[in-house]
Amino acid sequence: MVDLDKTQLQKFEAQLRERQELLWNDIAGVLKNEGHDNLVELSGQVHDSAEESVADMVADLDIAVISREVAELKDIELALLRMRGAGYGRCIDCGDAIEIQRLEASPAAARCVDCQNRFENNHSERDQTPSM
Ligand SMILES: [Zn+2]
Repeated sequence: MVDLDKTQLQKFEAQLRERQELLWNDIAGVLKNEGHDNLVELSGQVHDSAEESVADMVADLDIAVISREVAELKDIELALLRMRGAGYGRCIDCGDAIEIQRLEASPAAARCVDCQNRFENNHSERDQTPSM
């Protein structure tokens, strides 16, 4: 079970939101340079909406220079969603509590260390396998 208390949750949420703001400023700057002002405005409106993800919309554009930021922003959005649903701090794969040290190092972590390693292994294997 998760034994994060309110103070810890608030601290992680503050960290996530701060990081989200920073990433979003970076991404918005690039979007403006690329001529996507309309998306920047739109995203400002749905910024804190649970239904629509800014990161999803931006990811669709597939702008290489910000792909890492977009991926991290997506992780943060998901973490904030889990926080609302009380699933925050629990591994999305095995359901165990995520180590507090791990959350402190990266508040957006969605998996415990074991599952994260498994997840990354699976992914790199899949990436290396030719699709045909
Ligand atoms: Zn796990």
